[in-house]
Amino acid sequence: MKLSPSPMLFRRTKIVATIGPASRSREVIQQMLAAGMNVARLNFSHGDYKDHAETIALLRQVANAEATPLTLLQDLQGPKIRVGQLPQGSIELVEGEQVHLVPLTEEETQGIGIDYPYLAEEAQPGMQVLLDDGLLELVVEAVEGNRVTCRVVQGGTLKSRKGVNLPDLNLRLPSLTDKDKQDIQFGIEQGVDIISLSFVRRAEDLWELREYLAAHGASDMPVLAKIEKPQAVENLSAILGVADAIMVARGDLGVEMRVEKVPLLQKQIIRECNYRSIPVITATQMLESMIHNPRPTRAEASDVANAILDGTDAVMLSGESAVGAFPVQAVKMLARIAADVEPHLEFDNMPAYRNDETHALGEALTTITQILDLRAIACFTETGYTATIASGERVKPMIVAFTDRPRVYHWMNLLWGVKPILLETLPLTFEGMIAVAENQLKERQMATEGDKILILGGIPAQTPQGTNFIKIHTISA
Ligand code: PGA
Ligand code: MN
Repeated sequence: MKLSPSPMLFRRTKIVATIGPASRSREVIQQMLAAGMNVARLNFSHGDYKDHAETIALLRQVANAEATPLTLLQDLQGPKIRVGQLPQGSIELVEGEQVHLVPLTEEETQGIGIDYPYLAEEAQPGMQVLLDDGLLELVVEAVEGNRVTCRVVQGGTLKSRKGVNLPDLNLRLPSLTDKDKQDIQFGIEQGVDIISLSFVRRAEDLWELREYLAAHGASDMPVLAKIEKPQAVENLSAILGVADAIMVARGDLGVEMRVEKVPLLQKQIIRECNYRSIPVITATQMLESMIHNPRPTRAEASDVANAILDGTDAVMLSGESAVGAFPVQAVKMLARIAADVEPHLEFDNMPAYRNDETHALGEALTTITQILDLRAIACFTETGYTATIASGERVKPMIVAFTDRPRVYHWMNLLWGVKPILLETLPLTFEGMIAVAENQLKERQMATEGDKILILGGIPAQTPQGTNFIKIHTISA
């Protein structure tokens, strides 16, 4: 009997789940991992270091015990503006009435405190002020001294510490805040695998993050840019030149830009990322109703399917897994939708983004996989570059990527269609690579006698970006 891995078992789309009060227990993490979570996102807009350290330890323990890769994504808050502490914890904003916005220090007596010190200086009559994810809307009417008077356009209850979006302003805030810097040091100490920066505006924001990482001994930390500001959309090309990964952060993107812009922006950003072989996560409200319900709406199921059809590498849960009543079911639902959609995926073959050996081999991969029925593509990589480019080709066979570096192993776990395997040492010779690929795939029941596989690697080994061969190999008895 031929042992062939069921396509159900091998999912190409990766699943990112935000960890929060609903999922910060051994049992739930175990179940989410078993259900298909590949990346755990730690949201540094919330929580203290003690909680985050405990969560990280728990995530690593469970992943090690299950011998399953689990990538830790540290998501920095970035320059997010918030409402201050409100005297009663919340206030009611009534449509048509006036409210006053003041600097944080004056909030108690004067009005609603906003932690953007330049608000009065920069606000103009007619400017939009959005609160709580855009659910509440104000428009500026007048500015006197420190006080900005607004009319309520869309009313409702405003709670303390809710987010503020000022889409009309070019904010005078550092891209890396002091809090972000402290959080990064904590993340490095804790050994997170990827760091993401919120509210990126320019490529320079990412250079600054990279420099800070390098100055703290983490120059090889992958950095992810969250696209959620109009400036980031304008500067997308330059940002893609610096970022290792991208998130289509639809939550803030749909507030900073009109919500009806989000669907096409999502497609455009994903396409640009696919062309450059940059992994991209589609995020926010994917299964939003599962915060309360065991089943998603049909629209949500369609949204997840469409993001996969767009070419996203990963789909993400936020509130669903962080604070929802059904975190495990939400992960299962993403995995089930992916399993149904993936057999129908068809991607255009885009031209090579760079003229290097790895991209040339990537083009060859596409051609070979169209002609031969291959069981797997095995690649050997020290930096993850080969696997990243191979993943970008969106080929049908699973890409089994071997490395001896834990950071690279966890990085490759985010990539579409890639199964990372951590080895103690990488084989150094051509024959060694063939033997390891063959033995590992057989042992893991990913291939059996007579199956054809491709092997991708570089000789001499240990040369950075030295991928230079592709071998068509038939598995022996
Ligand atoms: P957030 O980012 O959840 O940290 O705000 C994602 C988004 O804005 O969509
Ligand atoms: Mn956001």
